[in-house]
Amino acid sequence: VIEMGQPEHSIVTTCAYCGVGCSFKAEMKGDQVVRMVPYKGGEANQGHSCVKGRFAFGYATHKDRIKTPMIRDNIDEQWREVSWEDAIGFAAKRLKEVQAKYGRESVGGITSSRCTNEETYLVQKLIRAAFGNNNTDTCARVCHSPTGYGLKTTLGESAGTQTFDSIRHTDTMLVIGANPTDAHPVFASMMRRRLREGAQLIVADPRKIDLLKTPHLKDAIHLPLRPGTNVALVNSLAHTIMSEGLEDKAFIASRCDDKAFLKWQAFIREERNSPEAMQSITGVDAGDVRRAARVYANAGNGAIFYGLGVTEHSQGSTMVMGIANLALATGNIGREGVGVNPLRGQNNVQGSCDMGSFPHELPGYQHVADDEARGRFEAAWGVKLDDEPGLRIPNMFDAALAGSFKALYVQGEDIAQSDPNTQHVEAALKALDCVIVQDIFLNETAKFAHVLLPGSTFLEKNGTFTNAERRINRVRKVMPPLAGKEDWEVTVALSNALGYEMNYSHPSEIMDEIASLTPSFSGVSYDRLEELGSIQWPCNEQHPEGMPIMHVEDFPIGKGNLAITEYVATDERATRRFPLLLTTGRILSQYNVGAQTRRTENQTWHDEDVLEIHPHDAEERGVNQGDWLGISSRAGQTVLRAVISQRMQPGVVYTTFHHPGSGANVITTDSSDWATNCPEYKVTAVQVEKVTQP
Ligand code: SF4
Repeated sequence: VIEMGQPEHSIVTTCAYCGVGCSFKAEMKGDQVVRMVPYKGGEANQGHSCVKGRFAFGYATHKDRIKTPMIRDNIDEQWREVSWEDAIGFAAKRLKEVQAKYGRESVGGITSSRCTNEETYLVQKLIRAAFGNNNTDTCARVCHSPTGYGLKTTLGESAGTQTFDSIRHTDTMLVIGANPTDAHPVFASMMRRRLREGAQLIVADPRKIDLLKTPHLKDAIHLPLRPGTNVALVNSLAHTIMSEGLEDKAFIASRCDDKAFLKWQAFIREERNSPEAMQSITGVDAGDVRRAARVYANAGNGAIFYGLGVTEHSQGSTMVMGIANLALATGNIGREGVGVNPLRGQNNVQGSCDMGSFPHELPGYQHVADDEARGRFEAAWGVKLDDEPGLRIPNMFDAALAGSFKALYVQGEDIAQSDPNTQHVEAALKALDCVIVQDIFLNETAKFAHVLLPGSTFLEKNGTFTNAERRINRVRKVMPPLAGKEDWEVTVALSNALGYEMNYSHPSEIMDEIASLTPSFSGVSYDRLEELGSIQWPCNEQHPEGMPIMHVEDFPIGKGNLAITEYVATDERATRRFPLLLTTGRILSQYNVGAQTRRTENQTWHDEDVLEIHPHDAEERGVNQGDWLGISSRAGQTVLRAVISQRMQPGVVYTTFHHPGSGANVITTDSSDWATNCPEYKVTAVQVEKVTQP
């Protein structure tokens, strides 16, 4: 705990780490945060917190914070500290030069799931209105973009269906590709409480996650599937439900699209989707799959929770649809205790998607080709907007290497460290004429930047975050921005320097604009948020106080749309050259690439990434606990220390990516989801060999 004396006052705000969105009271002495106290009035956390939100806030005043804008003509030069005016002027001049030389489409930007809704909205507005194209994307591309695609296709809305609190009514929880005790700790506590009360647990994960160690668990089922075979597993669960007559016929008849259901039913009943047929692919015992399907289908209330182990695959979107199919076929949608619940990684990943960060969607998931929606934005913004989707992040990298994409504005994301196949990303960044990085630290991406605009932390700004249950929470400024500007003010300044005028005096005005253009946010305002505490969208005339449970009576697309989910094997298969499958994840005390948590006391609990390996694979390689291991894939190689663990299954190894030196993303490949290009972080075929200390 950072002790700095007795607090003088406190301000309620929202944690900036994970998608649980816990509320905290920042207890202050002058401009200094003395401690963060979990706020009992916070609807998402109800007074609970984890070690990240509670203790890991010291990064906000860390000595590494960038407090002065910097520029340089090329990336081999030293940085020159300049005024805000000069830095913004330099960035605008470069962007204009690039567009004059290479065309309107040659520039783009990336929004951040760490920043507020208002900031994200402004970045995509800058790109669409000032850059004049749809080359906007978000770091959600590399985590939950398949959730957006899959849930919109099947249920009609790109969002989870429940409140966290709804788990109080859950009888069976099916957890797929998620490790809530490390990645969503406060919600994991709610899950554990319900499990102790007698709810049943089914976990589909290559690793034995800690949730399976919950004391007094009743008949938990672990389905330890091979990485990359999610769709085969979900199809075999659905096959069991349909072939054993476990489906909810009344729900299907009243709530699902007839044609889609009949087509899906014929597909899923095929013998090739049976647990017995899929066993050789998934590696999961067919009897266990049948048992799990019965438990889920027969539960009074069955809820599915999933994480990046579902989305970060070449069939990420297919798997999300497979999960929605399961919920639709069993009638586990539209009431307390059930539903499809994506556990969002970053604090505002839901919000960054909601706010129009994707190249094909304006705020509120309104397609850029929708004339009526686009017309509304054109009228409000006073510009003509492009009706063609722009470039996604991986397309930007490819276009940079091809020479047609020349400038990038990145707000609050370290793409050089967090995106897969680092060599490819770095080569693309080097090929750009202008990289503008807006961040709180000199991150890995900044090595390739020409302009560095200091960012502001959640403690230094006003705004809102939207958590994994669609809950819009207020973020309140507790100290002045160290570099003098909040992130939204920087975007406004850049836009004005480019000649597209933006004029806001407070983020509440940005939210008012969002509400006026986004039907699902039309009832949201800062006054309403003060009154209600938080709001779960949609919030509009029909739902003036928001909507905790979605799809109660119907779906935005009318009827539930069961989708065909054909299993297609990933290219990342174990071979003689690369015989093991690497999967990646997170640990409790660190957060993503560690930019924040590594600059706090949490660093002392986890100061290096390691490779977890099963005793059998370790023995085969003569590896002892703590040995150095060389890990190579078709993308690259790195070195990590060995941790021999029974949590792994033979043939599968695991690491985290919290430290820049670990090189996890040096070895991950650029395979990606067929629908959204979300990278396949969760499966990389590797070889592991004992090496001498690096
Ligand atoms: Fe923050 Fe997530 Fe921990 Fe809550 S559970 S304190 S939102 S990191």
